[in-house]
Amino acid sequence: MTRDAFAGTDHPPSYYAATAKGAPLLNALEADITCDVCIVGAGYTGLSAAIHLAERGYDVVVLEAAKVGWGASGRNGGQLGTTLRKSQPELEEMLGRDHGRALWDLAQDSITTAKSLIKRFEIDCDLTPGIMHTAWKKGDMSWLREEADHMAKHYGYDKLRVIEKDEIGDMVATDRYWGGVLDEEAAHLHPLNYALGLARGALSLGARIFEHTRVNDISDGTPATVATDSGTVTAKQVILACNGYLGGLERKVNGYIMPINNFIIATEPLGDDGAKALIRDNVAIADSKFVIDYYRLSADGRLLFGGGENYSSTFPKDIAAFVKKPMLRAFPQLKDKRIDYAWGGTLAITLKRMPHFGRVGPNRFFGHGYSGQGINVATLGGKLLAEAVAAEAEGKGSPERFDLMANIKATKFPGGTLLRYPGLVAGMLFYAMKDRLP
Ligand SMILES: Cc1cc2nc3c(=O)[nH]c(=O)nc-3n(C[C@H](O)[C@H](O)[C@H](O)COP(=O)(O)OP(=O)(O)OC[C@H]3O[C@@H](n4cnc5c(N)ncnc54)[C@H](O)[C@@H]3O)c2cc1C
Repeated sequence: MTRDAFAGTDHPPSYYAATAKGAPLLNALEADITCDVCIVGAGYTGLSAAIHLAERGYDVVVLEAAKVGWGASGRNGGQLGTTLRKSQPELEEMLGRDHGRALWDLAQDSITTAKSLIKRFEIDCDLTPGIMHTAWKKGDMSWLREEADHMAKHYGYDKLRVIEKDEIGDMVATDRYWGGVLDEEAAHLHPLNYALGLARGALSLGARIFEHTRVNDISDGTPATVATDSGTVTAKQVILACNGYLGGLERKVNGYIMPINNFIIATEPLGDDGAKALIRDNVAIADSKFVIDYYRLSADGRLLFGGGENYSSTFPKDIAAFVKKPMLRAFPQLKDKRIDYAWGGTLAITLKRMPHFGRVGPNRFFGHGYSGQGINVATLGGKLLAEAVAAEAEGKGSPERFDLMANIKATKFPGGTLLRYPGLVAGMLFYAMKDRLP
């Protein structure tokens, strides 16, 4: 199956598609229309940008090749984190103390914004508190502990609770972990229902969203003409919100991101007792491996387990078998449980594993490369893009918050868009192999 196999059709089969709620009825574009801002892609980035622009009074059109939440936003692990992907100590080291620390305000805004959008638009997406980061190797516990100490001491962040080895076995039914850190401010949710709720929110503010409308070309100039097979949008400004599905639509930036695929399975419902026996407090879990195992319980008591990735344009033939391996490594007791759903999605990573924001030309903006942590960061990303577009329209220059992200210098993947894969695959396999060493 290729990663694009479902474009133009419905959401690919998954636990999320089977339990989707409140999808708005949307048409394809079949006319030539005008607007202030045209957004390409209806995932969290595009939908959050649409909400934050529409509430400022801009006339917004969103064009989506398939369906709202068809991309990674409707298929992911549902873990709503509190960082910008890298930890604060890592950011301080990478960018210097001041830049690193300034990003913490954005990180906090990312989680606050996601939670307040859920509240404001009454999005029923099973929001549940807590993500626990667990130590796969003994040595991982020391940096997890140091991070928690650093956050308490330098940021006054008191939501991180260190869990020692003797306690963690009561919280998660596996003997694999050396301990962990529970982030009580983080949460987990039904990602597709979150995306669908954002779309309803954007529509309620007057944004227009067209599904089954793939953008083929965007002209230079102001206004720009955004061309699709069935109509055009003439827009003063354009936002590219395509993440792992950008392809060749914008060649000035696509070399800075790499699409990779990640996979999830959903077991049969385990019953209240079975689910509680597996994860006592219903928190989400992400371990410290390079190829992360991440999992949580669904609202109906299934284990939704994400693990395993590949770097090609096709998904494994048997995704269930592919992901069952890491699941059984952590939970051998689930060997006889049925797998009801198995699916994959494509996300964009950057070399620095930090998102990539910026503009190509005076009126074309982009935000992508969340490197596996997009629920909070892409929601924030859409808001920052809206701030940048509004500032440009009002002749105010580039806003400081957008620049804090855009000034994280991105590095192109060596080898350009054609040759980057062999190098990436070799690197990824090396680190994945290290996961298996003691
Ligand atoms: C399996 C998996 C697990 C993940 N787990 C987590 C997690 O637990 N927590 C977390 O925070 N993040 C997770 N992520 C990452 C997160 O899902 C993404 O970072 C986030 O959804 C990106 O949102 P987006 O709107 O930028 O992109 P997407 O949601 O991918 O949306 C891009 C949209 O653009 C559309 N598009 C592309 N090209 C065109 C075009 N030419 N014309 C029109 N439309 C176009 C696509 O159809 C797509 O709908 C995971 C990702 C995957 C794949």
